[in-house]
Amino acid sequence: MGNPRGFIEVPRKESGSRPVIERVDDYGEVEQVLNDEDRKLQASRCMDCGIPFCHWACPVGSKIPEWQDAVYKGDFELAYKVLHSTNSFPEFTGRVCPAPCEKSCVLAIHEEAVTIRENEAATVEKAFELGYVVPRIPKKRTGKKVAVIGSGPAGLSAADMLNQAGHSVTVFERDDAVGGLLRYGIPDFKLNKKVIDRRIQIFEAEGIEFRTNVSVGETISGKEILDQFDAVVLAIGAMKPRDLSVEGRDLAGVYFAMEYLKQQNKVNRGVIFNGERIDAKDKRVLVIGGGDTGSDCVGTANRQKAQWVGQIEILPKPPVKRQHGNPWPFWPHVLKTSTSHEEGCERMWSLATRRFTGEKGHVTGVEVVEVEWVKEEGRMVMKEKEGTLRVIPADLVLLSMGFVHPVHEGLISELGLDLDQRGNIKIEKNYSTSVKGVFAAGDAANGASLVVTAIAKGREAAQNVNNYLLNC
Ligand SMILES: Cc1cc2nc3c(=O)[nH]c(=O)nc-3n(C[C@H](O)[C@H](O)[C@H](O)COP(=O)(O)OP(=O)(O)OC[C@H]3O[C@@H](n4cnc5c(N)ncnc54)[C@H](O)[C@@H]3O)c2cc1C
Ligand code: SF4
Repeated sequence: MGNPRGFIEVPRKESGSRPVIERVDDYGEVEQVLNDEDRKLQASRCMDCGIPFCHWACPVGSKIPEWQDAVYKGDFELAYKVLHSTNSFPEFTGRVCPAPCEKSCVLAIHEEAVTIRENEAATVEKAFELGYVVPRIPKKRTGKKVAVIGSGPAGLSAADMLNQAGHSVTVFERDDAVGGLLRYGIPDFKLNKKVIDRRIQIFEAEGIEFRTNVSVGETISGKEILDQFDAVVLAIGAMKPRDLSVEGRDLAGVYFAMEYLKQQNKVNRGVIFNGERIDAKDKRVLVIGGGDTGSDCVGTANRQKAQWVGQIEILPKPPVKRQHGNPWPFWPHVLKTSTSHEEGCERMWSLATRRFTGEKGHVTGVEVVEVEWVKEEGRMVMKEKEGTLRVIPADLVLLSMGFVHPVHEGLISELGLDLDQRGNIKIEKNYSTSVKGVFAAGDAANGASLVVTAIAKGREAAQNVNNYLLNC
């Protein structure tokens, strides 16, 4: 701990975002960067408290006080080494992690938390700039072959660990580019895709083979993969979106959020496609679902120059501050205003969708009713409020109500994998599935979660695959 009075002397300073008026005209990253001096001062705010709850809250168990100290002292090589020792991709989490660590920071009990996420992004960027991030080519190869299916953060972190353990790793990806939802879900204004390409180049130099445009279960059968590899890691995500089966669902102009977001990310990448373009320009856009994916739709619609953007949520508006029963160091269930919301969005809560209205086969609005949540026999039940029915006019409706489980058709059914009660791939403690030699990690096994959780699960799965390979 370099400066024992840092947390008293230095106030929290965030790097902030580019001005709204400027950023809504492009897909460049919204967040700005602090200068090195300010960054070191921010790292000095870490108190090196006795029990670092930040470390407990971080799914990859980042050794936060250790690398804050190194950042404060300007030793970015050491800071990166410590950071990277538990997290394969701090450049992704440093940009998009909701930072549960900061919500559990001991300083946050009475002061503003340390800027851990921003410090993470700054550390890894500095490490790249100073040439500390170089390919680590494994000295020995085991002769064992592993197939990783799916190239999201879970698949990539598993591939990284298994390659470093000396196994020969091939990553199969259905899409035309590697990255999973990092590539074709999270918008470019939150994560510039060059950041993914930069890491993939290092992985290729380290010996990982990537095969894109290969859908395992279609392009090549799961059985062929099992025959050709000693172990398989399924990291295929949880891609089945939650639908809204109400009248008018089949009207033109109603899409799943992912259909919309993926298309814009592809356009930004320069991919030319022949299908229908979903464009919000001059339209009234209503996003159904108040979560982060919905917020990404808001940001994208504003960049496409929508006439109006609204977002509805079935749950009540969350409180601004932590409530009784939701104490530190747990995740705070409070109102979140994203940078996309700042760019323009009418947010509405406690609204249930009754039906979509339309004319000539195209959506014209969403009929909603106000609801209240009451406790009945110990559980919260939704009740419609009488006389509150109304139609919100909309020409483009984006369904963003989360994901239910991985897609069962194709690979999962071909391999006959057991599923858990929620429809995810059933795994044991050691990440093994019901088929010998097949392991699963990330959203496919845990349900839709976060990038950092996927990284953590991919790494843990890899350790278990390594144990399996050493014993078979
Ligand atoms: C729009 C959106 C925004 C998000 N924003 C954030 C955020 O800001 N911060 C955050 O922490 N989390 C965010 N998340 C969640 C996060 O992206 C996911 O939890 C995470 O990417 C899951 O990683 P994964 O590796 O398990 O799966 P995925 O990232 O879903 O990757 C799975 C990959 O498997 C491939 N695949 C599937 N089947 C096959 C097959 N048969 N053969 C070959 N390949 C296959 C898919 O094409 C895909 O590339 C967001 C999610 C969405 C949808
Ligand atoms: S990965 Fe997320 S939770 Fe962990 S230290 Fe980084 S920002 Fe915090």
